[in-house]
Amino acid sequence: MDQSEPKPSIVQPRRRVGKKFPVCVVCHADPGFTWACPCGFALCTACLQKNDDLWQGGGRAWRCPQCGREHLGPNR
Ligand SMILES: [Zn+2]
Ligand SMILES: [Zn+2]
Repeated sequence: MDQSEPKPSIVQPRRRVGKKFPVCVVCHADPGFTWACPCGFALCTACLQKNDDLWQGGGRAWRCPQCGREHLGPNR
């Protein structure tokens, strides 16, 4: 029986360490980026685009349905 060898410390090629985005509260996807609100609400781009009633100002901002705060959205 082999003794489990100590694994060499492989540096995982992780995605850019830095800002960590919360998972989407709607589909629970973790695409690496979500539109997050300080209140804890977060949407992935796909879910945000599906909810056009969240959009303000013709698509330049989105409103958090949880706290009502407005955020700049993807500029199109
Ligand atoms: Zn989503
Ligand atoms: Zn919010």
